[in-house]
Amino acid sequence: MTLHQSNLAAQVSGSDDFWALVIVVALCYVVGNWEELFGGGAGPVPPTPGPNGDAHERPRQAAHSAGPPSAARGERPWLAEAGIHGDLPSVRAGKPKFEEPYLSATQVKVWDRCRHRWQLEYLKKLKPHDEESQGLKFGTVVHETLETVFRWAKENDYRGDLGSADMRLIASRAHSRALSGNWLYPNAGDAALDRCLDYLEGSTVGPHDEVLHVEAPITVTIKADAGRTGLLRLAGIPDLVMRRSRSLVEILDFKTHRRVLKPDDLTGDAAQAIYAMWAHKAFPGSKILNTYALLKHHRTVSHEFSDDALRHVRSDFRQLDAEISTAQRGGAFPPSLGPHCFECPMRHHCLHYAKKWPRPTSR
Ligand code: SF4
Repeated sequence: MTLHQSNLAAQVSGSDDFWALVIVVALCYVVGNWEELFGGGAGPVPPTPGPNGDAHERPRQAAHSAGPPSAARGERPWLAEAGIHGDLPSVRAGKPKFEEPYLSATQVKVWDRCRHRWQLEYLKKLKPHDEESQGLKFGTVVHETLETVFRWAKENDYRGDLGSADMRLIASRAHSRALSGNWLYPNAGDAALDRCLDYLEGSTVGPHDEVLHVEAPITVTIKADAGRTGLLRLAGIPDLVMRRSRSLVEILDFKTHRRVLKPDDLTGDAAQAIYAMWAHKAFPGSKILNTYALLKHHRTVSHEFSDDALRHVRSDFRQLDAEISTAQRGGAFPPSLGPHCFECPMRHHCLHYAKKWPRPTSR
């Protein structure tokens, strides 16, 4: 081979054929190393029309902009492509400010537990202790993660598989963001993400479903009897409101605790009753379904409030409003001392607590 090459060089050396040979060798080198030199395939790539009609896109770019696998399922891939890598929707921050006076399910719980706490928290508006347990933070991380996913679905009018790779990616990003503001032990952090992914994998936003509200503050007014004002404002924040069909609206609350809740728990839940009253006014003619999504137990529990049940709830709220009105006039908000005081977020404002459990004095 070496001999043959040197003979060939001798034959062409000093002639015009020599330069022709140099050009041929140079061309062979360029073609052989095309990918390294120009980043394409084994040779020049003809322009390929992309999905957006861009005739200058090359195959690799076209594959990228072809969007996620959801394209094949008709899930509005261009929006998904933009959204999963873009900014996440922001979550609701802090407590919403409802027009005063109002009653919420939390107020009902506090009133039943300790009227003095109700006075400190809702009348004097003193700041509660915001030290949060790991259990509360766990719930916050799960709620914030799911809130972000459903806000994203609403903003992008997503109507597909909530367990798809795209949605898992959004959930993971949302979960990381939620963790950065609510530190959890690592195993608890992983468990929080698992709860969310399990729920999303078992759920679907079908073509006829629509995400109507995500963590949106709602109010409904009813006539008051002998309360503080002529109209009584009831307020709440349902986790998720979905239109399931033309005639069905579902209100969902995500629950992260261990206790297995039953339909009876729903009927006695003041928050659910407020949501149902609001939804009957907001979506007249639709059937309203209240649902607990029990994330730890991979199941849901639903209930439909009857007109009769809602009438009773309205009457309970009127009675409570009248009680509060009487207490305000007489200035009577007695304390209710007990073991629950050690977890009361208002205990550092409470003189009854300080008297009952005085702090040891330092010498
Ligand atoms: S510490 Fe106990 S008595 Fe005081 S406000 Fe809280 S629950 Fe009521």
